[in-house]
Amino acid sequence: MPVFSHPEFDDHAEVAFCRDAESGLTAIIAVHNLNRGPALGGCRMWAYEDEAEAVTDVLRLSRGMTYKSALAGLPYGGGKSVIIGDPKRDKSEALFHAMGRFVDSLGGRYIIAEDVGISVPDVEIMGRETQYVAGTPAGGAGDPSPSTAYGVFMGIRAAVKHKLGKDSLDGVRVAVQGLGHVGYHLCRYLTGDGAELIVTDIDASAVARAVQEFDAHAVAIDEIYGTTVDVYAPCALGATVNDETIPQLKATIVAGSANNQLAEARHGEILRERGILYAPDYVINAGGVVNISHEGPDYDKAKAFAHVALIHDTLLEIFEQSEATGLCTAKAADRVAERRFKMGKEGASVAA
Ligand code: NAD
Repeated sequence: MPVFSHPEFDDHAEVAFCRDAESGLTAIIAVHNLNRGPALGGCRMWAYEDEAEAVTDVLRLSRGMTYKSALAGLPYGGGKSVIIGDPKRDKSEALFHAMGRFVDSLGGRYIIAEDVGISVPDVEIMGRETQYVAGTPAGGAGDPSPSTAYGVFMGIRAAVKHKLGKDSLDGVRVAVQGLGHVGYHLCRYLTGDGAELIVTDIDASAVARAVQEFDAHAVAIDEIYGTTVDVYAPCALGATVNDETIPQLKATIVAGSANNQLAEARHGEILRERGILYAPDYVINAGGVVNISHEGPDYDKAKAFAHVALIHDTLLEIFEQSEATGLCTAKAADRVAERRFKMGKEGASVAA
């Protein structure tokens, strides 16, 4: 399987293939870029079909983190890790100890946190082997999911303001796909602002909870794309915006937490041509890393969340730039992020 010539390789600084026979750990740690600081990015545990799928996933996710931190003006590079395995079946303390040791062996070039399939207690176990963990109660900031959800909520408000000219979500219909760590908190923020929810998840208990707590209307997995809503919020896995789903969309806004929502870059342009406003994934879902950047003994939640709320204005700027330049929103965001991380630490102050 090619790695250096992989279509998603994109000049990664380092890719570590990690195997610990005793615990059964098979993992990949990808460090994309270190120009702005250590590579911060979550760890995903997933039952990948094959190794090639895991390699593609980790490379795409890791690159996305470089762009995310650069665009949010944070002093981090981009990295990500994946553990190949079923999170419902294959977790063990020994597995996370082994993962912690691999993270430690990178000497701080990679800082690990949670992502799909991994929860805070798992990261805490890794933290017994390495200091290079983030998003645990020990750092003050804790679980990044509520702050990610808050950033997505503020981003949806920005998109609704730009596209529909409304200052609140009162009566706005949002289709939330995926009711996990982020999706659940997002539903809470959305209903708090008056939105009506249409939800789906492969986990029936997550759906039942959203129906009960948020008066959400549940639809089948494949029905979520074609529901009559204003906003489609992908909060499960990536690549759900693709040639099959775009023609089904009735929403005029795509804005959610999932990483790598566009199956291919060209789908950003297709959305623009169809008049669908896309909030670039790594811009709208940066709340978790923004919150982590406040970690430390002086962690102040109000200050951290005020920082997360800036995602609203950043997105409005990206939307305006997209209109001014004719670039789709994803490309407009990439242009700003690339300028910043190519300049390294000094790029923090480059204006959008
Ligand atoms: P999670 O694992 O807690 O939740 C994902 C949910 O999606 C689960 O409930 C799962 O059952 C559901 N799901 C999986 N496949 C589905 C499908 N085909 N249709 C509907 N539902 C499906 O993960 P999370 O932490 O909530 O993250 C969600 C997304 O947001 C991921 O793409 C993640 O990379 C991204 N993200 C998360 C954070 C964070 O702070 N947790 C930060 C940035 C981005």
